Amino acid sequence: MKRRDFIKNSAILTASTYLPIAKAEIHDQQAISLTGDEIVLSKVDILDFMSSFQGSVIAEGHYNYEKARLVWNGVWNKKPALIVYCESVQDIQKAINFSREQNLLTAVRSGGHSISGKSTCDGGIIIDLSRMRKTNVDLQRKIATVEAGCTLYDLDSKTLPHGYVVPAGVVSHTGVAGLTLGGGIGSLMRMYGLTVDNLISVDIVTADGVLRKASLDENPDLFWGIRGGGGNFGIVTSFSYNLRPLPNGEIIVGVNLYDMKYAKEIWDFYYDYSEGMSSNIMLNAGMWNDDKTGQGYFFLGTLFIGDDNKASKALETITNFGNPMSDEVNKKKFSEHQQVADKRNAHYRKYYIKGRQIDEYNPKLTEELMERWSYEEGRFDTMRVVRFGGAISEVAESDTPWAGRNAKWDIEVGGHWTNDAKTEEYTQWGRDYWKALSPHCAERIYINELMDEDQAFVATSYGQNYGRLVEVKNKYDPKNLFSLNGNIKPSV
Ligand SMILES: Cc1cc2nc3c(=O)[nH]c(=O)nc-3n(C[C@H](O)[C@H](O)[C@H](O)COP(=O)(O)OP(=O)(O)OC[C@H]3O[C@@H](n4cnc5c(N)ncnc54)[C@H](O)[C@@H]3O)c2cc1C
Repeated sequence: MKRRDFIKNSAILTASTYLPIAKAEIHDQQAISLTGDEIVLSKVDILDFMSSFQGSVIAEGHYNYEKARLVWNGVWNKKPALIVYCESVQDIQKAINFSREQNLLTAVRSGGHSISGKSTCDGGIIIDLSRMRKTNVDLQRKIATVEAGCTLYDLDSKTLPHGYVVPAGVVSHTGVAGLTLGGGIGSLMRMYGLTVDNLISVDIVTADGVLRKASLDENPDLFWGIRGGGGNFGIVTSFSYNLRPLPNGEIIVGVNLYDMKYAKEIWDFYYDYSEGMSSNIMLNAGMWNDDKTGQGYFFLGTLFIGDDNKASKALETITNFGNPMSDEVNKKKFSEHQQVADKRNAHYRKYYIKGRQIDEYNPKLTEELMERWSYEEGRFDTMRVVRFGGAISEVAESDTPWAGRNAKWDIEVGGHWTNDAKTEEYTQWGRDYWKALSPHCAERIYINELMDEDQAFVATSYGQNYGRLVEVKNKYDPKNLFSLNGNIKPSV
């Protein structure tokens, strides 16, 4: 990353770090309860909470409130009653206890990248963990432990220089916490599994304010639930992962760029070829329009892990396919590769984007996709398909709540824009697009790709694992304090 960009990224990530405590500005505060009723948080109660809280408390009227309430997806222009920046596990416990006692609508924010805006809310509290970013890499035991406010960049920058990696997502400013709890898909998943498949344990404060460890040996029901069940059971304060080898922190990356007129034949090739690939190869396909010229591009992106000498042979069918405008295969630092898409996914633009899993390829999906693919000035459309399989499908469906172990692909389609006035129109465009695509996909979503699906679809997506998730929810969060997520409704 260029120095200038690094400084810019760091500024976004740490913009909240030095906010002063705003005691003088606290007054009785209108708020919204867990059940959606209007309530008042008294100044006395807020000050009492603040008196033992180490971090900062921000409310409307504070000079930094407008900045503090921003989340990655600018579509979610919400106004929380309070934003509390935790600096320790005790702070998290105090914030949870305050929320529960006040019966307050509660959002949890770590990296702030929830596409569906679940880490913010109108009238409730945001419990923010972005200041908790300690990391520890134990090379003897091959374990990385990170606090919940870390981004993927924080994690990668501590592991890759040692030739190890924790498989996670593909945009370096994404938060480790939300990504892991939803499952965690990325370019190494076919080789090393989902992020949750590499999780050893977490420290988590549950709705009763108690700090617990969850692992295969301690609170195994909770450990099962958090490996794909999202933020439903408590606030995770830190995650410990197994490190996986990535010698020299390097990979082989190939990119073929094609004219859009070949889209149909490339899609057919993609689905056919990617089914039989070995698990050390990842193949992505996608399209985008140049935002200035409107010119459409199609890309095939490959990533190979393994012996350099074997890469060109392993990738030759892909690199030789069709008539690319350009094709390149290079050895690359994985840390660089992880930042390639950072700018395209910049903070605070307005996004309508979501995904679905694909169990079997139906060419009608491509027909619908291409028929509706268009250029609209001011809206930047993107889409991609990634291949699942490999290590993902070696884990049984019931071993973790993450549903779709046998799904073959995952498709994401959407657009982003900056013009507020266009939000309604473009949101409708996204909905219409998905109405056409979804009949040709699995009736299941990777929970971290939710945009505006309803509760029934969350339950449908978890499939056979939903009932067990409800049991874990009943035990650790029976009043649904943690309701802003792909929600598991308690039944008690
Ligand atoms: C640009 C971009 C790129 C992405 N790329 C990928 C990708 O490659 N792979 C992938 O799998 N996903 C990806 N995602 C989806 C991503 O996994 C989710 O948006 C995820 O929720 C982000 O985590 P976060 O901590 O940044 O989010 P936040 O918005 O902070 O949190 C999202 C939700 O997670 C829960 N949560 C957050 N922190 C905690 C905590 N400490 N304890 C308990 N619950 C918590 C809460 O329910 C919260 O609503 C991407 C998203 C974006 C916006």
